[in-house]
Amino acid sequence: MESKKKRIIACPVCGKTLVYEGNPYRPFCSRGCKGVDFIRWSDESYRIAKEEHENGNGVQNNGG
Ligand SMILES: [Zn+2]
Repeated sequence: MESKKKRIIACPVCGKTLVYEGNPYRPFCSRGCKGVDFIRWSDESYRIAKEEHENGNGVQNNGG
């Protein structure tokens, strides 16, 4: 009987294969990769906010 089927997934950061079930860092392979993904997301969010700010503080050619 094969009622317990383990799912194998690939880490989205490093591409390493790992067992999904019972993995505290899923879908990542380790705590390190989980942190990397978070930093990436955080950096992107920060960049978008900065761009918006720069756009609003540029040339004023509207209204007068
Ligand atoms: Zn990984």
